[in-house]
Amino acid sequence: MIEFNQVSKVFAGKEAVRNLTLHIEKGSFTVLIGTSGSGKSTTLKMINRLVEHDSGEIRFAGEAIERMDARALRRRIGYAIQSIGLFPHWNVAKNIATVPALLGWPKAKINQRVEELLALLNLDTQLASRFPHQLSGGQQQRVGVARALAADPELLLMDEPFGALDPVNRQALQQEMLRIQKLSGRTVVLVTHDIDEALTLADQLVLMDGGEIVQQGRPVELLTQPANAFARDFFGRSELGVRLLALGRAGSAARRGEWLEGEPIAATLTLREALSQFIARRTDKLPVIDQQQQPLGVLHFSDLLRQRETN
Ligand code: ADP
Ligand code: MG
Repeated sequence: MIEFNQVSKVFAGKEAVRNLTLHIEKGSFTVLIGTSGSGKSTTLKMINRLVEHDSGEIRFAGEAIERMDARALRRRIGYAIQSIGLFPHWNVAKNIATVPALLGWPKAKINQRVEELLALLNLDTQLASRFPHQLSGGQQQRVGVARALAADPELLLMDEPFGALDPVNRQALQQEMLRIQKLSGRTVVLVTHDIDEALTLADQLVLMDGGEIVQQGRPVELLTQPANAFARDFFGRSELGVRLLALGRAGSAARRGEWLEGEPIAATLTLREALSQFIARRTDKLPVIDQQQQPLGVLHFSDLLRQRETN
């Protein structure tokens, strides 16, 4: 879907991104993570040409982006940012419909799409006629995401899109984003400096430092096989255990063929959440049910200790 080959970008004599080579698969959820100033936003903005690269080549769906019309390119790519960037004197519906309107969709189709997106992002239909300043920060960020999704773009770029949210809303929107991405098979590239957010969302994780890629791969690879001391320190030795648990699911770790009476936990729970349940309930075994609410097996506390190999 996207290929960076030896791409560099210089701002005022200083390299913001250096010799970047990165391939992003269609349908993947790629997260760029790194400290502030490591070149994440610049990398993202070069994809939709909000920033033009200086050297190397960037291809989108096989085509070199510098040979494409920048506005046509941007209409194929959704873009959501932390500062949200909603138009203040347009109501929610009009904000969401920005790109479909530019593309000349008929009014009925636009209205239908706005309703769909409000439902998808758990926004009350009554909000459609409100203005951005009449919404909470969390609602505004949902509208920002809805707007980015509106024209059903092939690619979604998100730069710290949940940054303004409190932890509860943030987790809810992360889960919705995962659901939307799995449902639609859309390609997403998301920038964050939040390690837990990255581990929750990524199937490909790209760690950046000083404008360069330090390591890329599946989250579990970066946690268990850090390429160097920077990668090891970045993910933090002390929290490594619980972070690994966050990558596993109760359903895959549960022992099949066993059952136990008592309040069951869902197979989709992460093992980190299951750990909280073990502690809260002062038990070392938990029954696990599948998505059809049927018994799946029993999760043993000791199973949490073997996650490193099974992930
Ligand atoms: P990140 O998103 O990882 O925090 P950025 O990509 O925004 O990092 O920035 C990378 C480097 O490039 C930083 O040193 C930043 O100051 C610099 N930079 C980014 N955008 C500009 C710009 N428009 N003009 C000058 N310098 C910039
Ligand atoms: Mg940034």
